[in-house]
Parts: sequence; C-alpha cells; structure tokens
Amino acid sequence: MTGDIWATLQQAWTGILDIVAKIVSPDWSALVLLIPLAIAPLVFLYLVMSGGRWTLFGITKPRPRVRWEDGPRALELDAGGAPVAPIGLPFSLRTGLVYPSGTARSEDGEDLAVVCPMCRVERRAQVPTCGSCGLVLKVRQGMTVARPAGPPPGGAAIA
Ligand SMILES: [Zn+2]
Repeated sequence: MTGDIWATLQQAWTGILDIVAKIVSPDWSALVLLIPLAIAPLVFLYLVMSGGRWTLFGITKPRPRVRWEDGPRALELDAGGAPVAPIGLPFSLRTGLVYPSGTARSEDGEDLAVVCPMCRVERRAQVPTCGSCGLVLKVRQGMTVARPAGPPPGGAAIA
C-alpha cells in the first residue's frame, strides 16, 4: 500500500519535472533558427522607412524656380477638332498657338486673348485685371534663362 502511494507520487513528480523542464530549458536550437525570422521584419521595416524618407525628401526638397525660355506651342484640340482656349495663358485662335504667360502680343503684333481662371471670361492679355470678377492675373516669372547671342559689341578678344 505505502509502496503504491510512493510510486504514484514519484510518477506525478516526474510529470511535473517534465513540464517544468519544457518551460525552463526550451529547445534552444529551434529558437535560434527563429531569430532571423524575428529580425527580418525589423530590417524590412527599417529599409522601408529610410527609403520612404529619401523618397519624401526627393519630392519635397526645395528647387530653384528656373524657367527655360519657351516659345509658343500649339493649342489643344477637343474631340471635334476645335481648339480649346487655355485657362490663364495668352493665346491666339488665329495662329492656333498658346504663348508663355506674360506675353501680350504675338510675333506679328496681334493682341493675344486670355481666359480668366476664375470666371472664364475672355479678355485681352494686355489687361492684367479681369473686368468681370476683378481677379488680377499675377504673372510670376521665375528665373528666365536665356543664352546670349554672341559677345557684346567690342567685347570679342583681339586676335
Ligand atoms: Zn474673372
């Protein structure tokens, strides 16, 4: 009888020890294999964040306002082939050209028209203020880069 109880107690104790052993000394080799799996998401997250910051910087970094002197370009046409008046840019329906902002006359002296961006009323491009809504079309010219045609008069080196 006493031997039976002892045997049962010993069995129970062995069972407890087994459970404790699983908690206290886990299977280290399996855990070591899991370490790269735990680090990989962190590395990935870091790469995404740093890459995202550089992308954000590339988008938001300050840039100098440089405008290359551009000539007139052709008016856009709608589905029916009729020219569409650009909003806020000087244009001429006769020549079918859109001119850079700030231009008042075409090369052959024709007065250009401009459509008000606010009320869409057409007026002459020379008039800076809209007669209908009073919006002043402020021409913000950035840096305009133009190449000199040649040396200034008398500025060429003497041979
Ligand atoms: Zn207007």
